Amino acid sequence: DKTTARRVQRIKPSPSTAAAQRVRELKAQGLGILDLTVGEPDFDTPDHVKAAAIEAIRQGDTKYTPVNGTPQLRAAIAQKLQHRHGLHYPADRIAVGGGAKQVIFLALMATLDAGHEVVIPAPYWVSYPDMVLANDGTPVIVTCPEADGFKLTPQRLESVINDRTRWVVLNAPGNPTGAAYTVGELAALAEVLLAHPHVQVLTDEIYDEIWYEPGQVPSIAGVEPRLTDRVFLTNGVSKTYAMTGWRIGYGVGSAELVSAVNALQSQISSCPSSISQAAATAALTGDQTFVRNCVAVYRGRRDLTVKLVNDIPGLSCTPPSGGFYAFVNCSGVHGKRTPAGEEIRSDEDFARYLLESQQVAVIHGAAYGSPGYFRVSFATSTDVLTEACERIGRACAALS
Ligand code: PLP
Repeated sequence: DKTTARRVQRIKPSPSTAAAQRVRELKAQGLGILDLTVGEPDFDTPDHVKAAAIEAIRQGDTKYTPVNGTPQLRAAIAQKLQHRHGLHYPADRIAVGGGAKQVIFLALMATLDAGHEVVIPAPYWVSYPDMVLANDGTPVIVTCPEADGFKLTPQRLESVINDRTRWVVLNAPGNPTGAAYTVGELAALAEVLLAHPHVQVLTDEIYDEIWYEPGQVPSIAGVEPRLTDRVFLTNGVSKTYAMTGWRIGYGVGSAELVSAVNALQSQISSCPSSISQAAATAALTGDQTFVRNCVAVYRGRRDLTVKLVNDIPGLSCTPPSGGFYAFVNCSGVHGKRTPAGEEIRSDEDFARYLLESQQVAVIHGAAYGSPGYFRVSFATSTDVLTEACERIGRACAALS
């Protein structure tokens, strides 16, 4: 390839985007696909958020904003972090971008040179390794088995840290597992990190409000004050407020890192959409009933999905503590044969079999660095979930 840079040749398009595209194509062919690949809320953005955007347009808030976001939005973010983690982030330590995805990418771009390593616990959100590769870094994948709750242990972390390590990524509640660290587990990881002052922590807390356990999901930034300055905490409004299309996310961390992110942002996009920023401000500062209602609905779907999946011989899944995905263990069907005589050799074979024989779309675990599993999104109706689990059960029963 003579026209593209090596950094592009190193990366692949996001498997979830690819799965969504395949589902769209099959639907366009008139197939009744039950889509469990969806990575966004199936709710509409709340009306008061839309109203704030319309008002911003009417008032002429339609120009460039400061590179690091409007003062109103940064104040709303600071208030959320103060309230949630007891952490005070002044305005110069807050970066706002076009989604958490962009903010994470910019933080990696701002800090990685060739040879730098980023520790990524698997199962991982599909984008981390490619974002690292796109920025000349080296992803160091650490497998975190289901027996450890899909979580990074202090021993595993210690074993992969070296002089080249730049970042450790912690995503909790995690995509695809819904797993989250307890305060004690974060304190134990922090203990390891305190001994390695050159390592920074990138926390992705995009699912923090979609939480099914008592209390709130903790952040390592709040758990270990001696680490706070080495944590780049990222979050956004996409999942919590059903605002995936508005593209607003943020990151907070040391003034040095945030100013580097802003320097890049100033050359890449100048600022995120002024209208979306007004909407995100309304979402963060307004009435939170919408969020509570969504979580109640997700909780019902989670319980239903986990129960139906665990009733299927050959499959099992641990209830997720947060987020809207269940990560299903399908190693029990490996080695079996489909009615057509094809052997199921991998999670990818199984996902293809589900799609072709039952028109149920899921994403295979290897896409998240964890073969032997598949991800089910329950950001869809209970009717779809019930019917899909019935079909998955039929597909499993037909194996021999
Ligand atoms: N982080 C995780 C773990 C996600 O699952 C997603 C979306 O799928 C994002 C970040 C991206 O969020 P945003 O819409 O803010 O870019």
